[in-house]
Amino acid sequence: MPEQALLLPERVQCHTGGTGGRSLGDLEDMVLDTETLRLSFGIMALALVVLFYFSAYRVTRSPYSGWWCVALLFFLAGSACFLLDGTAHQVWANPLGNTLLVHGGVAVWAGARSLRTAAPNKWAFAAIPVVTLVASVLDNPATNVWSGGPVFLFAMALTIGLGSRELWRLEPGYSRVRIPMATAAGGLALFYFLRWVAFLLEGQNGPTFTTIFGSAVTTMITMVLLVVVSFSMAALSSEQQTRALRVVATRDDLTGLLNRKAFLDLAAEQLSDRAITGGSGALILADLDHFKAVNDTFGHAAGDVALKAFATACTDTVRTTDLAGRYGGEEFVILIPGASAERAELIAGEISRRLAASPTVDGMVMPTVSYGISTYDAGTADIDDVIVTADAALYTAKSLGRNRIARSDHRGLS
Ligand code: GH3
Ligand code: MG
Ligand code: MG
Repeated sequence: MPEQALLLPERVQCHTGGTGGRSLGDLEDMVLDTETLRLSFGIMALALVVLFYFSAYRVTRSPYSGWWCVALLFFLAGSACFLLDGTAHQVWANPLGNTLLVHGGVAVWAGARSLRTAAPNKWAFAAIPVVTLVASVLDNPATNVWSGGPVFLFAMALTIGLGSRELWRLEPGYSRVRIPMATAAGGLALFYFLRWVAFLLEGQNGPTFTTIFGSAVTTMITMVLLVVVSFSMAALSSEQQTRALRVVATRDDLTGLLNRKAFLDLAAEQLSDRAITGGSGALILADLDHFKAVNDTFGHAAGDVALKAFATACTDTVRTTDLAGRYGGEEFVILIPGASAERAELIAGEISRRLAASPTVDGMVMPTVSYGISTYDAGTADIDDVIVTADAALYTAKSLGRNRIARSDHRGLS
């Protein structure tokens, strides 16, 4: 029987903290019955799957909890396969068990990636289990309970390690359980890596591999991991859901830019946080020219394409620390902390250039844009004042013939 069963350890000794009064014989009697242990671990894992499914996935629909359910099912099914070791079925069950457990590792990785809304890496996801399967099938699985052992151990270390790396890469403020989760996954990955090294150095019957990396330690580490995961699970998936909701609440659904309220809230925050830029910066108000005519001539859908193209031109031009929002209809607003009026003018010009170069539909000509620029400094208290000033400059740009930039301090620039 292999010690590789992740959730269903083969044999664990029950230590009761001190041997006071007991004979060695008593202790040996306390070696737990393997089948009972397997069964209780199986029930525990199954209970976790059910709990995760109903308490986390069904409630939050967060991809993270979904992936964890899948991972646990793979771990459970893979471990169950090893029950057939030593029987005539070992020849298929052992390679299948290895492959399923590695699939579990892959699902852990996918779940961690989903937290930063990265798609699963399809090529790696398919290739790692397939390589494990081929290596196990080619390594005498009928007689060798560690068939494909090195590949299996390395694949586990790799996939769980990549999962841990994804968790570390999340922004520090993501969740208070980010660090425990990343540490737990990193610890398990390291453990599998060391098992892999021990296996390579001394083989499956070597003293280190069978003692330090034997079933007792594997079981202990697995249990700690499960406890950490159980506690962290709900927190991370509800955080993922909250973030998704926050995006919906703060974004304009057509363009993906900030909506008016979110822009005003964040801009007010910027103005009050003088530490960021020394308190000065520029604001651009943009209005697409004769936009009504675009709708009337090419249709509302074409108008939407132009709005989206403008938003893309904006986000491609400004820094991620700048704020870009849809102020309403075909009006947009951009806050550029730290920028001078000249710099804002260059940015507005660049946005117009990008918009003009955007692909259009059915012969539509992209509209031109008029801009009003105002600046603020440490003495400016109210974002509304900055917008009113920019709006006056925008009016000037419109009345001077559109397709131009006007500054509140220096009106009528083209
Ligand atoms: P000006 O150069 O003076 O700004 O003229 P304009 O036609 O751009 O301005 P006006 O305010 O007359 O028209 C704005 C148009 O924008 C009218 C409205 O139907 C259109 N609009 C507002 N929101 C949307 C939208 O989400 N999609 C589309 N396709 N059109 C929109
Ligand atoms: Mg308008
Ligand atoms: Mg307009």
